Amino acid sequence: MATYEFKSESKRLLDLMIHSIYTHKEIFMRELISNANDALDKLYYLSLTDENVTFQKDDFYIRITADKDARTLTIEDRGIGMTQEELEENLGTIAKSGSFAFKNEAEQKDGVDIIGQFGVGFYSAFMVADQVTVKSRKFGSEDAFQWYSEGAEGYEITPCTLDHFGTIITLKLKENNDEENYDEFLNEYTIRNLVKKYSDYIKYPIKMLVTKQ
Ligand code: ADP
Ligand code: MG
Repeated sequence: MATYEFKSESKRLLDLMIHSIYTHKEIFMRELISNANDALDKLYYLSLTDENVTFQKDDFYIRITADKDARTLTIEDRGIGMTQEELEENLGTIAKSGSFAFKNEAEQKDGVDIIGQFGVGFYSAFMVADQVTVKSRKFGSEDAFQWYSEGAEGYEITPCTLDHFGTIITLKLKENNDEENYDEFLNEYTIRNLVKKYSDYIKYPIKMLVTKQ
């Protein structure tokens, strides 16, 4: 197992997300669905340019699973996936300009609906989850790796098994408290509404599975 610290820029954004009192925490759904969509796009484009990559239409989907007993929400895609290095590179560092723009704006203005205006990215998962697990297997590789983080302390990467390429992100939702109810994100009706709200431009089917309590 390898343990890592977040790069300082990433740590600051992550801190912002963890301690966010932002009322529209639900946008984590928009971010994770859009990442899944991007991952499927990348594989799709690969299939257009590489004749060895066969495009299996049925494989191109996003699946959202809520487990009420475990209090987990899982977003799975059959997209391009990530290698161990890519997990470290992409999830250990905020490299994306959208996230940077957000960070700078957030430092400049107070009390405005800043977060909703930007693509805040993967770390928005930490607005609703206190443990985030990303299992990924890169297309064309036999090896899979798990990225795991409980927040600002850092993250671990360990080998794991996945019987299919793609990425499975599991959010262990935060415990409810007097002000916040995170259980709502396990509710089928809520999830359906969020998916509807945030999947306008998503080209791939989104399947849902909610295990009953
Ligand atoms: P952005 O999507 O704006 O690049 P994010 O913070 O949302 O920024 O994601 C960071 C990076 O992590 C992405 O650019 C991508 O390389 C990688 N990533 C995130 N989610 C996935 C996924 N489901 N499949 C493959 N790569 C992913
Ligand atoms: Mg993104």
